[in-house]
Amino acid sequence: MSPPIIQIEHLVKRYDSGTAALDDVSLEIREGEILALLGPNGAGKTTLISIICGLVRPSGGAVRVGGHDIQRDWRAARRMIGLVPQEIALDPFETVLSCVRFSRGLYGEPPDDPYLEQLLRSLALWDKRDARTRELSGGMKRRVLIAKALAHRPRVLFLDEPTAGVDVALRREMWLVVRDLRAQGVTIILTTHYLEEAEEMADRIGVINHGRLLLVQPKSELMGEFGKKHLTITLQ
Ligand code: ATP
Repeated sequence: MSPPIIQIEHLVKRYDSGTAALDDVSLEIREGEILALLGPNGAGKTTLISIICGLVRPSGGAVRVGGHDIQRDWRAARRMIGLVPQEIALDPFETVLSCVRFSRGLYGEPPDDPYLEQLLRSLALWDKRDARTRELSGGMKRRVLIAKALAHRPRVLFLDEPTAGVDVALRREMWLVVRDLRAQGVTIILTTHYLEEAEEMADRIGVINHGRLLLVQPKSELMGEFGKKHLTITLQ
């Protein structure tokens, strides 16, 4: 079994509003796996991802990425992570290439190298590299966001609700992209509201509700346990 690349211990988050968004969450994520975090609106999924990525400070607990504590050794931990946020935020007048080069610059990477071409080719964006993002389809825009997140060669990719608000065809397209990335060795953590998406893509599924991680199990075990073609999980 591969070693954990992310270790989360007793994570707690209370916002100033008093909302308890995370309540004693512990979890290990192994290198090379796809973990889907499933839960309804307000469950705490984005908060969990934001803390792991060092964007939100936890009220308690610890997160280590590749052995680096996200709070004490932010730079080293952050370098290992790529994040695709929920919202598509691309400058409509920037080209694909300039968007991705900008992200590389944030990590001190040179504008061009063989990895950049390989990355854009693997996401079927190379032929569109000089197109402005406003000219791209919804699927291509999402792939540009993934290319930006992978621009500095992180080992872990977070996808926060990658298929929220998209049609079935585009959802399936994203599933293929994610599987392809995993085949290239990227560890992937994604959040979703869709059970079928978790079933389709993940090696392990974590269910989160009211800030608590209710279970984390290999998909095969979960499906065996429930003895059904599709998983059925009822959240109270
Ligand atoms: P969704 O699927 O709707 O994106 P989620 O599972 O990602 O939901 P979070 O966004 O992590 O859930 O929210 C968890 C709880 O924390 C919710 O009750 C939310 O209202 C609250 N919350 C999130 N961000 C903040 C904030 N910046 N300030 C105060 N409360 C917040």
